[in-house]
Amino acid sequence: MPTKGLSNERLENYEKILIEEKEQTQRIINNINDIQRRGNKDQSGDLSSYSIHQADMGTDTDESEKRVYILNKELEKIKEINSALRRIYDKSYGICEICGCYIPENRLKIVPYARFCIECKSKEEKNTRRK
Ligand SMILES: [Zn+2]
Repeated sequence: MPTKGLSNERLENYEKILIEEKEQTQRIINNINDIQRRGNKDQSGDLSSYSIHQADMGTDTDESEKRVYILNKELEKIKEINSALRRIYDKSYGICEICGCYIPENRLKIVPYARFCIECKSKEEKNTRRK
């Protein structure tokens, strides 16, 4: 059992952040689903507020592919947020799933649904890339 973790007050704060983030993500997903349903001719759905790195996308990606790309990313994010919320409720939030250390709050502020500390995260990424 961890002896020193986030206080209940901090946990409640992150719960609020995660719920807001989830609602925002859900809105993006709904928006994309709507556009996809209406078909590609209608471009009225606004994704302009969503910044996307050209480097991730390639140059010839059309709008529809871009939406699928964002949709998949957002769906993945919702899963991460949901499991972070579960960790808040069972009080394991903020603890690295690999080494068991406490994830620094400056990292949680940037990625509130982080599951690993920075060291484990970079090891994980190296492993994934190797596969
Ligand atoms: Zn770790």
